[in-house]
Amino acid sequence: MKKKFQEYKGLESYLSLRMLVQIIFCLVIVSTGIKFYFFVSQLETGIIPDFERPPGVEAFLPISALVSLKHLLLTGTINSVHPSALVLFLIICLTAFIVKKGFCSWVCPLGLLSDCLAKLHFNIFKKNVGLPVPVDLLLRSIKYVLAGFFIWNIFYKMPLNSIEQFIQSPYNRFADIKMLKFFINISNTSLIVILVLIFLSFIIPYFWCRYLCPYGAILGILSFFSIGKIKRNPSYCIDCGICEKKCPGLIKIRQKELIHSSECTTCMRCIKHCPEKRSIGFFIFSDKIRVEQLTIALVMILIFVVGISIAKISGNWRNKISKTQYLGYIFQNNMSWNKNGRIDPEMMEKMIKIMKNIQAQKVQLDSQRKDPEP
Ligand code: SF4
Ligand code: SF4
Repeated sequence: MKKKFQEYKGLESYLSLRMLVQIIFCLVIVSTGIKFYFFVSQLETGIIPDFERPPGVEAFLPISALVSLKHLLLTGTINSVHPSALVLFLIICLTAFIVKKGFCSWVCPLGLLSDCLAKLHFNIFKKNVGLPVPVDLLLRSIKYVLAGFFIWNIFYKMPLNSIEQFIQSPYNRFADIKMLKFFINISNTSLIVILVLIFLSFIIPYFWCRYLCPYGAILGILSFFSIGKIKRNPSYCIDCGICEKKCPGLIKIRQKELIHSSECTTCMRCIKHCPEKRSIGFFIFSDKIRVEQLTIALVMILIFVVGISIAKISGNWRNKISKTQYLGYIFQNNMSWNKNGRIDPEMMEKMIKIMKNIQAQKVQLDSQRKDPEP
């Protein structure tokens, strides 16, 4: 009894560890977003920021990453427009070959939000409300259809010249700014859609992840080739069913020895709650090496740190779009905000201020070049 209690206490800390890792990644993502917001805000006032644009913001450009992947496969080069989008996409795919869809439950901020909503759901309803199996199966196909749509159009229908045109198009070059604007000036329709999705993820836990996320669909497919898998040992299993009750992927764990399911996010809840610790675990290379949560946490962090470091050293982390080019885009974009073909006087005043600032900065740079400090 005492031993079991100790095991439970030890395992309890595992959950905290996963949440801790989720929170760390979430903080990194939020700070990246805030820095990018200040970067764009300064440009909008005509000031060239004295800090660099955070490349990590490209993690939110998955279509650009897929196009870049095809470009890489066809040309052998990483394009310089959004290199970190591709780097982060490749890193995330790499995690799937080791810890299945571990990215979803260890890194993704939407996974963290879904976890919180699922906890709230359980605290209120005291049970997990699931959908009937046929409906569940039908809805689960949506994310594969969405992922298939993008993969089909990019990898099958776009020839190399279209890929290169897309990469260099203003739409792609400044897609990060468009994305920021989308969230800052969010339309009522988009806000309602987001709130409905949050509500659905509260009523039906992991609704977004389970049915709609195309990123999760891609990782789910790659996870079939993962060297790591949850393994149940029937010799020790007492068939209590606790693991299945706790599994967010609604996987029928007791019907299997090796969990191949594309819904397994390596959240380790089945292991945490199992009263017979030897009966279930996460193993790499079939049943050769048992891996605990601390190792998974370290592997996850290490993959990102090493991957990003390699990208930085090889010059494939920061893009080659200059701050002046960003400023030019914002300038042009603001100029197009007119009504009935006339420029808003307030906007015109702002633009004149921006032009004056650019001019002043240019003069300052020119004089620095002419009179270099001794
Ligand atoms: S509870 Fe176990 S089987 Fe279910 S998703 Fe988590 S790790 Fe995978
Ligand atoms: S919780 Fe553990 S003992 Fe119970 S059914 Fe699952 S694997 Fe078997």
